[in-house]
Amino acid sequence: MERQSQPAETSARMIDPFGRTVSYLRVSVTDRCDFRCVYCMAEDMTFLPKRDVLSLEELDRLCSAFIAKGVRKLRLTGGEPLVRKNIMQLFRSLSRHLDSGALEELTVTTNGSQLARYASQLVECGVKRINVSMDTLDHDKFKAITRWGDLGRVMEGLAAARNAGLAVKINAVALKGVNEHEIEDMLSWAHGEGMDITFIETMPLGEIDEDRTDQYLPLSLVRQRLEEKYTLTNIPYKTGGPARYVEVAETGGRLGFITPLTHNFCESCNRVRVTCTGTLFMCLGQDDAADLRAPLRASESDDLLNGAIDEAIGRKPKGHDFVIERQNRKPSVTRHMSVTGG
Ligand code: SAM
Ligand code: SF4
Repeated sequence: MERQSQPAETSARMIDPFGRTVSYLRVSVTDRCDFRCVYCMAEDMTFLPKRDVLSLEELDRLCSAFIAKGVRKLRLTGGEPLVRKNIMQLFRSLSRHLDSGALEELTVTTNGSQLARYASQLVECGVKRINVSMDTLDHDKFKAITRWGDLGRVMEGLAAARNAGLAVKINAVALKGVNEHEIEDMLSWAHGEGMDITFIETMPLGEIDEDRTDQYLPLSLVRQRLEEKYTLTNIPYKTGGPARYVEVAETGGRLGFITPLTHNFCESCNRVRVTCTGTLFMCLGQDDAADLRAPLRASESDDLLNGAIDEAIGRKPKGHDFVIERQNRKPSVTRHMSVTGG
């Protein structure tokens, strides 16, 4: 795995047609998962055949090419990234870019089920902050939302992460009638534990078993309700992602909102996503994509790969146009979030 990436100066930086510099890459290392969250997957999912999936060595080479082209922040996601076999091998090899200073941050978004096992290894690989997705503090509700998950195990994972010294941000999808009335409890729990928390609107990605109009809870409404009890002050805090943050005076903690539906955040988009088959999506909310697996596999040198990346960044769209409305029940984008990575 000790493949050297090209020095940054020799590869063109990635600047899209709207002048936005791409410096953040999210990589879905697997489309598989040990949960089946109702807003993310159907219960009966067909996963990609293993032969279509990039090897860990290929993923390393792909990430390294992006780092050479100016990516400063790299997030591994999925599916559930920590269920991919030998995933620590990839973290370990990518950590050389932290050591060299080419990469500012290596991080992960996880459902927390494997954290008890991996937290200290993540720290050894230079990971400092992680996102853990958790939509409720209620054991039965957790089971209902994730279908296969166990909240107790995630809580053990959280404890292990924090004992290992990882800063944890909780991500929760706001779901109408499900965790809608638990939002305050989650906020005070997370802040009481010294963790940031971000709420996310459900996005219309992929066919699921339920009707998304039944799940969608606008965060503008959540914020309005919270403001009846808390003092929320907008703050310029940024983590490189699309969340807008406020400080909660009563708890002293940070609260983020990711609002693709009620507020478009595309103007400042610095991100692209790669799937575990090496497909590059220039926008989470659009179908246009570029195949990077063919150029990656076609040659030992990165020239073809770099050319394909440049060509794709040259058509990064201005933004997404997610809609959730009753007349239009089809998802805006046919692939699931677990394919592109959240
Ligand atoms: N399995 C990991 C996890 O759950 O954190 C990483 C992948 S998951 C696809 C990443 C994030 O996307 C999670 O926070 C999840 O709640 C969120 N997510 C999945 N489907 C979504 C949807 N349709 N709308 C909004 N967020 C979604
Ligand atoms: Fe798995 Fe994450 Fe999707 Fe839940 S949100 S099914 S944990 S990939």
